[in-house]
Amino acid sequence: MTTLILLVLTAVGVQAKLNVVATTPDIASLAEVIGGDAINLTTLARPTEDPHFVDAKPSFVAKINRADVLLHGGAELEAGWLPPLLNGSRNSKVANGAPGNVRCNEGVVMLEVPATLDRSQGDVHAAGNPHYLVDPVNARVVAQHLASVFEQLDAAHAGVYQANLKQFIADLDTRMVQWQKTLAPFRGDSLAAYHNSWPYFAKRFDFKMDIFLEPKPGIPPSPAHLADVISRMKREDTKVIFLDPYLSRKTAETVADATGAVVLDVTQFPGGVKGSGKTYLEMMDYLVNSLAKALGGGSGPN
Ligand SMILES: [Zn+2]
Repeated sequence: MTTLILLVLTAVGVQAKLNVVATTPDIASLAEVIGGDAINLTTLARPTEDPHFVDAKPSFVAKINRADVLLHGGAELEAGWLPPLLNGSRNSKVANGAPGNVRCNEGVVMLEVPATLDRSQGDVHAAGNPHYLVDPVNARVVAQHLASVFEQLDAAHAGVYQANLKQFIADLDTRMVQWQKTLAPFRGDSLAAYHNSWPYFAKRFDFKMDIFLEPKPGIPPSPAHLADVISRMKREDTKVIFLDPYLSRKTAETVADATGAVVLDVTQFPGGVKGSGKTYLEMMDYLVNSLAKALGGGSGPN
């Protein structure tokens, strides 16, 4: 009997680290902050990759197969590539509806939830705009969710997860005050973007962001559409175009040349562009400070 208990304890000890797979690097960076050394973390998408069209390698199936927890956006961002991997992995722990299948948008107030679904309007997401993590308030919600999930699945490390969460929220709140201050002089300014990845950021920091270089999500722009974009940008005095690393720089530069605006290299993922750091907080620092600089406010306090 004693031997059996020892064996069981040894087995538990060996499996002590939760195997966590995150679909995208933004979710992964929050999981890393909360999980720390208590988890093994694998990220599927690279930070420079278009999260709607991730190159789904066969090795991803094996990674999901070994996972105790699968963290995904929960809002169809990965709808084009994740479902077949999940099916192929045959892992009941992370299957849809299982406790290890974590929709990270739980508790997040989603923007742009369509009243009706019309796929002719481009790549429409039924759950709303999936790019919600570039609002730090949403990162806070997700971090809290991750801490409670990790705690439920790995009670032995509950104290670690709670301490990491507390520290993250303190850091986030401190920086949030600074971010708001840095961007305050530009409230209400018009911004353009190639793809509509930034409504949560725009709402949080009070920018007007309704000019998009692509006419519909996932549809490349026609010359007529770009002409319309250029005239709207001139009318709105739009000085900055947000460009994610996997979108057409050439198109963005054509529009910038015609309007006098600048192309700002932005990323939703730490490490997606040069200078965007390795963590969520560093990425937000980069976004805020580089935007303030582009809008004419100097490099910011950091
Ligand atoms: Zn999108």
